[in-house]
Amino acid sequence: MKNVLITGGTSGIGLGLARSFAAQGYNLLINGLEKDGERIAQKLAQEHGVKVVFSGANLMHPAQIREMVQQAEQELGQVDVLINNAGIQFVAPIDEFPKEKWDAILSVNLSSSFHASKAVWQGMKERRFGRIINIASAHALRASEYKAAYVAAKHGIVGLTKVLALEGASYNVTCNAICPGYVRTPLVEAQIADQARAHGMSEEEVVENVMLKKQAVKQFVDIDGIAKLALFLASDAAAQMTGASLPIDGGWSAQ
Ligand code: NAD
Repeated sequence: MKNVLITGGTSGIGLGLARSFAAQGYNLLINGLEKDGERIAQKLAQEHGVKVVFSGANLMHPAQIREMVQQAEQELGQVDVLINNAGIQFVAPIDEFPKEKWDAILSVNLSSSFHASKAVWQGMKERRFGRIINIASAHALRASEYKAAYVAAKHGIVGLTKVLALEGASYNVTCNAICPGYVRTPLVEAQIADQARAHGMSEEEVVENVMLKKQAVKQFVDIDGIAKLALFLASDAAAQMTGASLPIDGGWSAQ
Protein backbone atom coordinates (compact mmCIF):
# COMPACT_ATOMS: atom_id res chain seq x y z
CA MET A 1 0.00 0.00 0.00
CA LYS A 2 1.07 3.58 -0.59
CA ASN A 3 2.41 6.07 1.93
CA VAL A 4 1.24 9.64 2.49
CA LEU A 5 2.96 12.46 4.33
CA ILE A 6 0.52 15.08 5.63
CA THR A 7 1.84 18.33 7.11
CA GLY A 8 -0.44 19.74 9.78
CA GLY A 9 -1.99 16.26 9.96
CA THR A 10 -2.69 16.47 13.69
CA SER A 11 -5.53 19.04 13.58
CA GLY A 12 -8.50 20.23 11.55
CA ILE A 13 -8.47 19.49 7.81
CA GLY A 14 -5.14 17.64 8.00
CA LEU A 15 -6.42 15.27 10.68
CA GLY A 16 -9.55 14.66 8.59
CA LEU A 17 -7.32 13.84 5.61
CA ALA A 18 -5.24 11.52 7.81
CA ARG A 19 -8.35 9.61 8.93
CA SER A 20 -9.62 9.23 5.36
CA PHE A 21 -6.29 8.08 3.92
CA ALA A 22 -5.77 5.66 6.84
CA ALA A 23 -9.27 4.27 6.25
CA GLN A 24 -8.24 3.51 2.66
CA GLY A 25 -5.16 1.60 3.87
CA TYR A 26 -2.46 4.24 3.34
CA ASN A 27 0.42 4.32 5.82
CA LEU A 28 1.02 7.83 7.11
CA LEU A 29 3.49 10.29 8.45
CA ILE A 30 1.56 13.06 10.16
CA ASN A 31 3.29 16.26 11.17
CA GLY A 32 2.16 19.09 13.39
CA LEU A 33 2.93 21.19 16.44
CA GLU A 34 0.20 19.61 18.61
CA LYS A 35 1.68 18.29 21.87
CA ASP A 36 -0.31 15.04 21.61
CA GLY A 37 0.88 14.23 18.08
CA GLU A 38 2.33 10.85 19.09
CA ARG A 39 -0.93 9.84 20.75
CA ILE A 40 -2.96 10.94 17.69
CA ALA A 41 -0.68 8.85 15.46
CA GLN A 42 -1.03 5.77 17.70
CA LYS A 43 -4.82 6.11 17.78
CA LEU A 44 -5.03 6.36 13.98
CA ALA A 45 -2.81 3.30 13.62
CA GLN A 46 -4.94 1.27 16.05
CA GLU A 47 -8.24 2.32 14.51
CA HIS A 48 -7.24 1.61 10.92
CA GLY A 49 -4.58 -1.11 11.18
CA VAL A 50 -2.00 0.93 9.26
CA LYS A 51 1.43 2.30 10.13
CA VAL A 52 1.33 5.89 11.36
CA VAL A 53 4.40 7.85 12.42
CA PHE A 54 4.52 11.35 13.85
CA SER A 55 6.94 14.20 13.19
CA GLY A 56 6.93 17.37 15.27
CA ALA A 57 9.06 19.20 12.67
CA ASN A 58 8.59 22.94 12.72
CA LEU A 59 8.00 23.81 9.07
CA MET A 60 9.49 27.26 9.53
CA HIS A 61 12.88 25.53 9.42
CA PRO A 62 13.86 23.91 6.07
CA ALA A 63 16.33 21.54 7.77
CA GLN A 64 13.51 20.12 9.92
CA ILE A 65 11.39 19.64 6.79
CA ARG A 66 14.16 17.61 5.16
CA GLU A 67 14.53 15.53 8.37
CA MET A 68 10.77 14.91 8.37
CA VAL A 69 10.93 13.54 4.82
CA GLN A 70 13.95 11.39 5.73
CA GLN A 71 12.02 10.04 8.73
CA ALA A 72 9.13 9.08 6.44
CA GLU A 73 11.53 7.37 4.03
CA GLN A 74 13.25 5.47 6.84
CA GLU A 75 10.13 4.43 8.76
CA LEU A 76 7.65 3.96 5.90
CA GLY A 77 9.97 3.26 2.96
CA GLN A 78 9.08 6.10 0.62
CA VAL A 79 6.71 9.03 0.18
CA ASP A 80 4.17 8.41 -2.60
CA VAL A 81 1.77 11.22 -1.73
CA LEU A 82 2.72 14.53 -0.15
CA ILE A 83 -0.05 16.74 1.19
CA ASN A 84 1.15 20.24 2.00
CA ASN A 85 -1.62 21.21 4.38
CA ALA A 86 -0.15 23.02 7.41
CA GLY A 87 -1.13 26.65 7.58
CA ILE A 88 -1.49 29.60 9.90
CA GLN A 89 -3.45 32.83 9.75
CA PHE A 90 -3.27 36.38 11.07
CA VAL A 91 -5.88 39.05 10.43
CA ALA A 92 -5.08 42.78 10.57
CA PRO A 93 -5.15 45.85 8.35
CA ILE A 94 -1.96 46.35 6.35
CA ASP A 95 -0.78 49.36 8.37
CA GLU A 96 -0.94 47.31 11.57
CA PHE A 97 0.24 44.00 10.08
CA PRO A 98 3.34 42.88 12.02
CA LYS A 99 6.37 42.05 9.86
CA GLU A 100 6.95 38.89 11.96
CA LYS A 101 3.46 37.62 11.06
CA TRP A 102 4.06 38.27 7.37
CA ASP A 103 7.35 36.31 7.52
CA ALA A 104 5.82 33.43 9.51
CA ILE A 105 2.79 33.06 7.21
CA LEU A 106 4.90 33.14 4.05
CA SER A 107 7.23 30.59 5.62
CA VAL A 108 4.58 28.07 6.78
CA ASN A 109 1.89 28.59 4.12
CA LEU A 110 4.16 28.90 1.07
CA SER A 111 7.88 28.20 1.52
CA SER A 112 7.37 24.95 3.48
CA SER A 113 5.53 23.49 0.46
CA PHE A 114 8.54 24.29 -1.74
CA HIS A 115 10.98 22.67 0.71
CA ALA A 116 8.84 19.56 1.27
CA SER A 117 8.13 19.11 -2.46
CA LYS A 118 11.82 19.49 -3.23
CA ALA A 119 12.70 16.87 -0.60
CA VAL A 120 10.33 14.21 -2.04
CA TRP A 121 10.90 15.10 -5.69
CA GLN A 122 13.87 12.90 -6.62
CA GLY A 123 12.29 9.73 -5.20
CA MET A 124 8.96 10.39 -6.90
CA LYS A 125 10.69 10.99 -10.24
CA GLU A 126 12.78 7.81 -9.96
CA ARG A 127 9.75 5.67 -9.10
CA ARG A 128 7.67 7.31 -11.85
CA PHE A 129 4.88 7.96 -9.37
CA GLY A 130 4.14 10.93 -7.19
CA ARG A 131 1.16 12.94 -6.06
CA ILE A 132 1.61 16.35 -4.48
CA ILE A 133 -1.56 17.94 -3.15
CA ASN A 134 -1.46 21.48 -1.82
CA ILE A 135 -4.25 22.53 0.50
CA ALA A 136 -4.58 26.12 -0.68
CA SER A 137 -7.77 28.10 -0.04
CA ALA A 138 -10.52 30.10 -1.70
CA HIS A 139 -8.07 32.86 -0.78
CA ALA A 140 -5.73 31.40 -3.42
CA LEU A 141 -8.28 32.60 -5.98
CA ARG A 142 -10.01 35.54 -4.29
CA ALA A 143 -8.91 38.23 -1.84
CA SER A 144 -10.39 39.53 1.40
CA GLU A 145 -9.32 42.58 3.32
CA TYR A 146 -7.04 42.26 6.39
CA LYS A 147 -5.37 39.06 5.16
CA ALA A 148 -2.38 40.38 3.19
CA ALA A 149 0.05 37.59 4.07
CA TYR A 150 -2.41 34.70 3.86
CA VAL A 151 -3.84 35.76 0.48
CA ALA A 152 -0.36 36.43 -0.94
CA ALA A 153 0.95 33.04 0.27
CA LYS A 154 -2.10 31.13 -1.02
CA HIS A 155 -1.94 32.84 -4.43
CA GLY A 156 1.73 31.85 -4.46
CA ILE A 157 0.80 28.20 -3.89
CA VAL A 158 -1.25 28.24 -7.10
CA GLY A 159 1.88 29.31 -8.99
CA LEU A 160 4.04 26.66 -7.32
CA THR A 161 1.39 24.04 -8.12
CA LYS A 162 1.51 24.90 -11.83
CA VAL A 163 5.30 24.82 -12.02
CA LEU A 164 5.56 21.44 -10.25
CA ALA A 165 2.83 20.08 -12.55
CA LEU A 166 4.90 21.03 -15.60
CA GLU A 167 8.17 19.71 -14.18
CA GLY A 168 6.60 16.43 -13.04
CA ALA A 169 4.50 15.80 -16.13
CA SER A 170 6.80 13.33 -17.88
CA TYR A 171 7.44 11.37 -14.65
CA ASN A 172 3.82 10.69 -13.58
CA VAL A 173 4.32 13.16 -10.74
CA THR A 174 1.22 15.34 -10.50
CA CYS A 175 0.63 18.44 -8.44
CA ASN A 176 -2.77 19.98 -7.74
CA ALA A 177 -4.21 22.43 -5.25
CA ILE A 178 -7.48 22.15 -3.37
CA CYS A 179 -9.04 25.51 -2.56
CA PRO A 180 -11.58 25.18 0.27
CA GLY A 181 -13.90 27.89 1.49
CA TYR A 182 -14.41 28.26 5.24
CA VAL A 183 -14.19 25.00 7.19
CA ARG A 184 -14.96 25.05 10.91
CA THR A 185 -11.55 24.08 12.35
CA PRO A 186 -9.39 25.48 15.19
CA LEU A 187 -7.80 27.88 12.65
CA VAL A 188 -11.19 29.38 11.83
CA GLU A 189 -12.46 29.40 15.43
CA ALA A 190 -9.47 31.58 16.38
CA GLN A 191 -10.07 33.85 13.40
CA ILE A 192 -13.69 34.59 14.26
CA ALA A 193 -12.60 36.61 17.30
CA ASP A 194 -9.81 38.39 15.37
CA GLN A 195 -12.12 39.29 12.50
CA ALA A 196 -14.76 40.56 14.95
CA ARG A 197 -12.15 42.97 16.30
CA ALA A 198 -10.87 44.04 12.86
CA HIS A 199 -14.37 44.59 11.42
CA GLY A 200 -15.88 46.01 14.62
CA MET A 201 -18.59 43.30 14.61
CA SER A 202 -19.85 40.62 16.99
CA GLU A 203 -18.62 37.05 16.44
CA GLU A 204 -22.07 35.96 15.21
CA GLU A 205 -22.03 38.80 12.68
CA VAL A 206 -18.60 37.70 11.42
CA VAL A 207 -19.91 34.16 10.75
CA GLU A 208 -23.07 35.43 9.01
CA ASN A 209 -21.85 38.59 7.29
CA VAL A 210 -18.19 37.87 6.51
CA MET A 211 -17.58 34.13 6.31
CA LEU A 212 -20.81 32.56 5.09
CA LYS A 213 -21.75 35.67 3.10
CA LYS A 214 -19.25 34.62 0.46
CA GLN A 215 -20.31 30.96 0.36
CA ALA A 216 -23.48 30.81 -1.73
CA VAL A 217 -24.63 27.58 -0.04
CA LYS A 218 -24.46 29.35 3.37
CA GLN A 219 -22.73 26.42 5.03
CA PHE A 220 -19.21 25.72 6.18
CA VAL A 221 -17.35 23.27 3.90
CA ASP A 222 -17.23 19.65 5.13
CA ILE A 223 -13.80 18.11 5.68
CA ASP A 224 -15.12 14.82 4.25
CA GLY A 225 -15.58 16.36 0.79
CA ILE A 226 -12.04 17.74 0.85
CA ALA A 227 -10.70 14.32 1.86
CA LYS A 228 -12.58 12.51 -0.91
CA LEU A 229 -11.22 14.99 -3.47
CA ALA A 230 -7.70 14.46 -2.13
CA LEU A 231 -8.11 10.67 -2.32
CA PHE A 232 -9.16 11.01 -5.96
CA LEU A 233 -6.17 13.26 -6.76
CA ALA A 234 -3.88 10.67 -5.14
CA SER A 235 -5.30 7.84 -7.23
CA ASP A 236 -4.20 6.44 -10.58
CA ALA A 237 -7.46 7.73 -12.05
CA ALA A 238 -6.21 11.31 -11.62
CA ALA A 239 -2.98 10.76 -13.59
CA GLN A 240 -3.99 13.26 -16.27
CA MET A 241 -5.16 15.85 -13.79
CA THR A 242 -2.29 18.15 -12.91
CA GLY A 243 -1.67 21.84 -12.33
CA ALA A 244 -5.28 22.43 -11.33
CA SER A 245 -6.51 24.59 -8.48
CA LEU A 246 -9.86 23.17 -7.51
CA PRO A 247 -12.35 25.21 -5.49
CA ILE A 248 -14.57 23.44 -2.96
CA ASP A 249 -16.05 26.61 -1.58
CA GLY A 250 -19.84 26.51 -1.67
CA GLY A 251 -19.91 28.80 -4.71
CA TRP A 252 -17.65 31.56 -3.34
CA SER A 253 -15.35 31.70 -6.37
CA ALA A 254 -18.32 31.60 -8.76
CA GLN A 255 -18.83 35.26 -7.85
P1 NAD B 1 -5.64 23.99 11.98
O1 NAD B 1 -5.16 25.15 12.77
O2 NAD B 1 -6.74 23.14 12.53
O3 NAD B 1 -4.41 23.03 11.63
C1 NAD B 1 -3.18 23.54 11.16
C2 NAD B 1 -2.11 22.50 11.34
O4 NAD B 1 -0.87 23.06 10.88
C3 NAD B 1 -1.89 22.08 12.80
O5 NAD B 1 -1.65 20.70 12.88
C4 NAD B 1 -0.63 22.85 13.18
O6 NAD B 1 0.14 22.25 14.21
C5 NAD B 1 0.12 22.83 11.86
N1 NAD B 1 1.15 23.85 11.82
C6 NAD B 1 1.01 25.20 11.93
N2 NAD B 1 2.21 25.80 11.92
C7 NAD B 1 3.13 24.81 11.82
C8 NAD B 1 4.55 24.78 11.77
N3 NAD B 1 5.29 25.91 11.85
N4 NAD B 1 5.17 23.59 11.68
C9 NAD B 1 4.45 22.43 11.63
N5 NAD B 1 3.11 22.41 11.66
C10 NAD B 1 2.46 23.59 11.75
O7 NAD B 1 -6.02 24.58 10.55
P2 NAD B 1 -6.95 24.04 9.36
O8 NAD B 1 -8.13 24.95 9.28
O9 NAD B 1 -7.14 22.59 9.41
O10 NAD B 1 -6.02 24.43 8.11
C11 NAD B 1 -5.31 23.48 7.35
C12 NAD B 1 -4.99 24.08 5.99
O11 NAD B 1 -6.20 24.38 5.30
C13 NAD B 1 -4.22 25.40 6.06
O12 NAD B 1 -3.27 25.48 5.04
C14 NAD B 1 -5.30 26.44 5.83
O13 NAD B 1 -4.79 27.64 5.30
C15 NAD B 1 -6.17 25.70 4.85
N6 NAD B 1 -7.53 26.20 4.77
C16 NAD B 1 -8.33 26.23 5.87
C17 NAD B 1 -9.62 26.72 5.75
C18 NAD B 1 -10.56 26.79 6.91
O14 NAD B 1 -11.58 27.45 6.79
N7 NAD B 1 -10.29 26.14 8.02
C19 NAD B 1 -10.09 27.17 4.52
C20 NAD B 1 -9.25 27.11 3.42
C21 NAD B 1 -7.97 26.62 3.56
